[in-house]
Amino acid sequence: MTFVRWRLVVHGGAGSERIAHDDPGHEAQARAGLNDALDAGSAILTAGGSAVDAVEMAARILEEDSCFNAGRGSVLTEQGEVELDAAIMDGRARRAGAVAGIKTTRAPISLARCLMERGPHVFLVGTAADRFASAAGIEQVANDFFILPERKRQLDEALAIGSAADPIKYGTIGAVAVDTRGNVAAATSTGGITAKRWGRVGDSPLIGAGTYADDRSCAVSATGSGEYFIRAVAAHQLAERIRIGGQSLQNALDEVLADVQSLGGKGGLIAVTPNAEVAWGFTTPAMYRGMTDESGRLVAIYADEESR
Ligand code: ASP
Repeated sequence: MTFVRWRLVVHGGAGSERIAHDDPGHEAQARAGLNDALDAGSAILTAGGSAVDAVEMAARILEEDSCFNAGRGSVLTEQGEVELDAAIMDGRARRAGAVAGIKTTRAPISLARCLMERGPHVFLVGTAADRFASAAGIEQVANDFFILPERKRQLDEALAIGSAADPIKYGTIGAVAVDTRGNVAAATSTGGITAKRWGRVGDSPLIGAGTYADDRSCAVSATGSGEYFIRAVAAHQLAERIRIGGQSLQNALDEVLADVQSLGGKGGLIAVTPNAEVAWGFTTPAMYRGMTDESGRLVAIYADEESR
């Protein structure tokens, strides 16, 4: 087994405008949240823990952080409820767990993890998925637990603007990691898009679209206009560009984003390979993002803030 350095990359969503929140402290809070997720995930990786444990932990912290559109603080459906989607994938044997449209499970990513471990199914939806969680002893809460006043305001605004509303808002969360054994994993969790209708499910919980991990190529988590990432099979496309196409990670990532954009979509991707290469990119003005390894850490939001 080859020794590689561990690495962890997280995102807190891509957005189409500069952040305009009622709360001026939001940006600092979001940066703090990304740092907390990096702290918790890297503690697992430095202790020799698995990439799967690290991405679950990082995602769980971001879900609990009301700054982000995942878990508590998620965007609202047209009916004013929260419906959550999440997926996790282990690059070792490409095992995966995914849930969509859940309403009462506090930690969607841990439900996805539980499903991945227990099987036999890979993808559960709706109230039945919440029932599975409850039966597995995973904490249940009332839907109201997830709802914040700021998200109600955003829903009212979206309903007033109607179909002209730009669906891309900051907040979906994701994590990818490689552990010291060279195994990769990915996790993504979201409330989806504001004012979504009819049981809409985005790319985040769809294995191969918003989430993918394969030790033969890389682990990927996406954020952005989900419909286009689904049609581009974005996360799997990125992995296969590396595995079959022999492309470099950053080049493959940029080309997938260009492909999504050619369909009319925008957003961002984070990725890591078993050799501990990392890449990120976005076609929006900003993406909440952070990465850490043994040698340091970077947390950024806007495009002009850094170049790795
Ligand atoms: N991709 C997510 C979705 O379509 C939304 C987001 O990333 O902001 O559900």
